[in-house]
Amino acid sequence: MLMVILFAIAGLLLWIAWPVLFGTSPRPEETKWPENLYFISRSEWADQSISHPEDIEPMSGITRVTIHHDGMPPLPMKTEAQIKSRIVSIRKSHSKKYADIGYHYIVDPRGRIWEGRPLQYQGAHVQGHNSNNVGILFLGNTYKDIPTAEGLDGLFTFIRYLKQRYKIPAENVKTHRELAQTGCPGKLLQEELDKARKSGKLKVRVSPGFRIDIEDWIRKLETWIGEAKKLIEA
Ligand SMILES: [Zn+2]
Repeated sequence: MLMVILFAIAGLLLWIAWPVLFGTSPRPEETKWPENLYFISRSEWADQSISHPEDIEPMSGITRVTIHHDGMPPLPMKTEAQIKSRIVSIRKSHSKKYADIGYHYIVDPRGRIWEGRPLQYQGAHVQGHNSNNVGILFLGNTYKDIPTAEGLDGLFTFIRYLKQRYKIPAENVKTHRELAQTGCPGKLLQEELDKARKSGKLKVRVSPGFRIDIEDWIRKLETWIGEAKKLIEA
């Protein structure tokens, strides 16, 4: 009997201390946008219609990510209006050839994430590799525009979020030139991504598997405490 009570007390203490020691563990479907990311929804910059709905395919599961730059003439892009007009012009030119803007997300020089083509649709950003592939555009021409620290921080945080949310393996995070004959995403962004891979900046800090284990343990502990309580009361 004494052992049961001691075990129940130890379990209870561990249960209380667990979130403090190891952090909380949201289930994947409850994952929110990271607090340090600023998200701009499509409705804030574009109308909701899809230019050519007959040309669009549904996205059936997400397993990979590809990073691009826009490759357009360098622009200062200092004001909100300049950034927005750049994204609007990309959507306009893509809509002539494709169903809508080809990228799912656009990262601006301030590190903010603009929603492009809704994620329920397959993108149009790497010929022959669009299925299951999230397209991210880093705004600017990174042969000339030096990627800003804020922009890179936003991009890397967002890549980590997508990897964790959709359990995307590291080898499935590619740049456009790693999949096709192209200079995209530009020299400077490619260099920054190579550095980030080496230094571990794209690594998810807590693996989803570890989170599931913690949740499982908390559930087990709750069951054990419940059973111990019943025994004590009996
Ligand atoms: Zn590209």
